[in-house]
Amino acid sequence: MIIILKHNPRDGDVETLLGSIKARGLVAQPIANEGSNMFGLAGDLTGISEDDFLRNPAVDKIVRVKEAYKLAGRKFHPEDSVFDICGRKVGGGNFAVIAGPCSVESEDQILSVARDVKSAGAQFLRGGAFKPRTSPYAFTGLGLDGLELLKLARDKTGLPIVTEIMSAEHLSEFEADVDVIQIGARNMQNFTLLRQVGALKKPVLLKRGLSSTLDELLLAAEHVMAGGAREIMLCERGIRTFETATRNTLDLSAVPVLKQRSHLPVIIDPSHATGYWNLVEPMALAAAACGADGLIIEVHNHPEAALCDGAQSVTPQVFRRIMTRVNRVREAVAQ
Ligand code: PEP
Ligand code: MN
Repeated sequence: MIIILKHNPRDGDVETLLGSIKARGLVAQPIANEGSNMFGLAGDLTGISEDDFLRNPAVDKIVRVKEAYKLAGRKFHPEDSVFDICGRKVGGGNFAVIAGPCSVESEDQILSVARDVKSAGAQFLRGGAFKPRTSPYAFTGLGLDGLELLKLARDKTGLPIVTEIMSAEHLSEFEADVDVIQIGARNMQNFTLLRQVGALKKPVLLKRGLSSTLDELLLAAEHVMAGGAREIMLCERGIRTFETATRNTLDLSAVPVLKQRSHLPVIIDPSHATGYWNLVEPMALAAAACGADGLIIEVHNHPEAALCDGAQSVTPQVFRRIMTRVNRVREAVAQ
């Protein structure tokens, strides 16, 4: 639903209108490229009638639109979103690199990898403290101790931390300590968690579900945004197909499609998409070439001994080379 205001409405009437929108649990999103006299309503419009707002003297017209993702979509937000996350710009032509191990394993490991990825040019440190594992007998992460080690790595390197939340039980720790909250592929449609994380209003890295369409990913982002958050990075991390040569199939066309439909930055995860460290570099270069806004890459100081995802983890040396080559690709495509 779009509300179009009259020319020069009275401030008091506009305030009353905004109050009545809020009271119905809806969000009024100004339509950026049309001046300030229009806004879209986001939220659950079931049972809301145009008459509810037409009575207000500030309102000229109401237009109903069938736009599934009002907050995540480009329609009401034509320009690329640019976020400032701990002093790092994300989106709108900036390139964000998030790197680190799949899981936090020890103080030595996380500090060593954090220092190496920082010196190679990464802007964010990743590391799982709570790990979703297919087998219940696999290493499921160090939990809150892992979060403490990530904080230590942030203190020592200055890199903001990106880590996955698995359960609402840890919302308060993530709110206090985590710079970017990752929602993993397996939780992309955990709608309750999406809302609860959204309500923290913190930056979120939202990974595409293993078998989710791009529409479903954008609707998941809409859930997080309806909760209140605005700084959402969409992450393509490979999808399930019949191909078995790679762990998943990297859907690189997700980059232009998502960017056509949404103003949110798109990050590529070539590690989970391929499953093999020696496929990470070519796919990272391809992601940079097709306009991705960044990468999330698994890096381990001893991949052969990693407790999780060693086969797809690159060494710090390989990561450094990827960074150099990605920058060259970005320069080449910018010309
Ligand atoms: C991860 O980033 O380590 C992870 C578990 O990713 P995904 O949710 O994409 O499988
Ligand atoms: Mn992993």
